[in-house]
Amino acid sequence: MTTKQIMETNDTSAEEALTALYGSDTFGIKTMEKYLSKSAFKKMLATVQRGGKLDMSIADEVAQAMKVWALSKGATHYTHWFQPLSDATAEKHDSFVEPDGKGGMICEFTGKNLIQAEPDASSFPSGGIRATFEARGYTAWDPTSPAFIKRTEHTATLCIPTAFCSYTGEALDKKTPLLRSMVAVSKHATRVLRCFGVEPSCVESNLGAEQEYFLIDRNLYLQRPDLIETGRTLFGCLPPKHQQMEDHYFGSIKERVLEFMNSVDHALWALGVPAKTRHNEVAPAQFEIAPLFEASNVAVDHNVMIMDILQRQALKFNLVCLLHEKPYACVNGSGKHNNWSLGTPELGSLFSPGKTPHSNLLFLTFLACVIQGVDKHADLLRASISKAGNDHRLGANEAPPAIISIFLGDQLTDIIEQIKAGGAKSSAAKTTMELGVDVLPTLPKDTTDRNRTSPFAFTGNKFEFRAVGSSQTCAWPMAVLNTIVAEALDEVATRLEPVVGKRNFNTVVSSMIKEMITKHDRIIFNGNGYSQEWIKEAERRGLPHLKTTPEALEVLSRPDTIKLMKKYNILSKAELLARKEVQAESYLKLIHIEAKTCLNMLQTIYLPAIAGQMTEICGTIAAIKAAGIKAGLKAAEDKANAVGKLYDELPAKVQALQAAIDKGCPVCMKEAMESARVTVDALEAIVDADLWPVPTYAQMLNIHSK
Ligand code: ADP
Ligand code: MG
Repeated sequence: MTTKQIMETNDTSAEEALTALYGSDTFGIKTMEKYLSKSAFKKMLATVQRGGKLDMSIADEVAQAMKVWALSKGATHYTHWFQPLSDATAEKHDSFVEPDGKGGMICEFTGKNLIQAEPDASSFPSGGIRATFEARGYTAWDPTSPAFIKRTEHTATLCIPTAFCSYTGEALDKKTPLLRSMVAVSKHATRVLRCFGVEPSCVESNLGAEQEYFLIDRNLYLQRPDLIETGRTLFGCLPPKHQQMEDHYFGSIKERVLEFMNSVDHALWALGVPAKTRHNEVAPAQFEIAPLFEASNVAVDHNVMIMDILQRQALKFNLVCLLHEKPYACVNGSGKHNNWSLGTPELGSLFSPGKTPHSNLLFLTFLACVIQGVDKHADLLRASISKAGNDHRLGANEAPPAIISIFLGDQLTDIIEQIKAGGAKSSAAKTTMELGVDVLPTLPKDTTDRNRTSPFAFTGNKFEFRAVGSSQTCAWPMAVLNTIVAEALDEVATRLEPVVGKRNFNTVVSSMIKEMITKHDRIIFNGNGYSQEWIKEAERRGLPHLKTTPEALEVLSRPDTIKLMKKYNILSKAELLARKEVQAESYLKLIHIEAKTCLNMLQTIYLPAIAGQMTEICGTIAAIKAAGIKAGLKAAEDKANAVGKLYDELPAKVQALQAAIDKGCPVCMKEAMESARVTVDALEAIVDADLWPVPTYAQMLNIHSK
């Protein structure tokens, strides 16, 4: 059923139609139950819901069922869909067609086709892991993320989420380390839970990723080579009215945008993506979509699908969706707030303070592990979100700085202070804490003192990692977060296991929590993360402040990082160094592309336009003179001089930019681009509007109805 048909359905069947739409294009649990034998379904369920190893003997049956289902959905092709080391997704389609030996064809899809493929794929970045002459790369089915149908108006393709690795088994993608980190954090969280007498069926790392984005009219977009080539504007003045009136955030959504959002939601629901929230964001033409949280790997796949659907649906409304972290200077950039938690089916989030002393002790143990993990590896967490685009955003308008800190809120911080003081009385929380004996005050899930300025905020029963960039996949930041917490949980389990069942268990836990918090509470900061004072204070506390991607990437090759990633089987040294190389290279390439685009626009767009303006004013001056009048001559000459003075600045700036490009130095290229921008933006303020060659910020940030 189409969206329109659903909307036109009479009241009683509308809900039915909507719920039937949900997941209709995915080979999810409901579909599997329908298409698989009872025993195969049970085995799939055990893997999908509890993360158990898949019994490969059912692969043929699953493949057959998937094929029948996909063909019924109109699919003609299938693809192993994966996430290489770029931020994109990859797919290579194969049709179901096999010759039947009699001049006809049959549709075939075997267990082998499902489980593994060898898509050559030699041109993906591998950071040197795989020389192109030994180009074998393998994709391997991830049964925990449901297969889905990718549609265009006339095509349907069965997409099978997969991991991508080299012939020698090294991970060449973003999904593999994430899956490995989920195993690690689950293993050690289970050990800790067991110490507390809890036997979970599984521990899952969960993610709800809020996605921010900008929309721009496609006709305007096509006139901005900088947006097309680099995803951000390299020039442009801020209009008089931008976001200062704070009237866009949560404002009434314009009709054209709402129609777009609605089509996005419906496309996502068909794909089983639980799209939940949509609203206007702070900057004009900026918006947000948030799905409900899911297991991290599924949420990561779904977020990538959200980015794809946003971009594809936008075109249908003659819009373009900008996912860049900073499309426009001086207004807010876009992030991807990663709401993360660990949970079990029985207990829910392990970051929910409980109702009994026992569960509170458990909560504080898990909380202490996050505090330790984030403090110990703040720089690695910073490195996990490094990308050229995010460098523009971090520390700029309403974005967290590149310093990682944790916001806990006053109440929880007060409790932490009491723990440090050894259970002293405190008036702020109005309770006395004696670990393991007293009950924590119930913490409101939506704390009133929500802090938007923190890169890593505790929000009631989860943490919100807000520094992730809008165009990045969440896979790597989530893999890092899972790993650093797994390490802390491992240490805790190792300390507690020997005292399980002993009378002093609670005392050991209490002193351990106290010790962990005392050692690591410098990472806690509840103040304004956007302020200059915080930067100084963070320095005083010795917290790392890695401002740019190249600085941050150095963390990846440090011995302690290599050791951590190896110990928890997330990445081998070669895999880790390969990632550093790919990221460093892509950073450099991006800056190069920006610099060349900037140069090209200066030479072929701005300089000719300014020459045109000069010709025009000089024509006016000549005409005034020829007419033999004085009035107006000074005004015309003043304007010619003002434009001419800035015009004169440009050749040297063009030369400097060219020299920086030739030198290949990213810092020089960035400086030269910024310097050219200052002159061009000053010109934009005085050149005739009808002679200005590209759409302005005022035009681009205003989405009209048509
Ligand atoms: P905000 O008010 O921060 O903008 P949103 O409602 O936009 O919040 O998004 C909150 C996200 O957090 C949603 O994706 C939601 O499903 C997710 N979330 C809620 N509880 C948890 C949890 N326990 N673990 C992980 N994510 C969660
Ligand atoms: Mg939100």
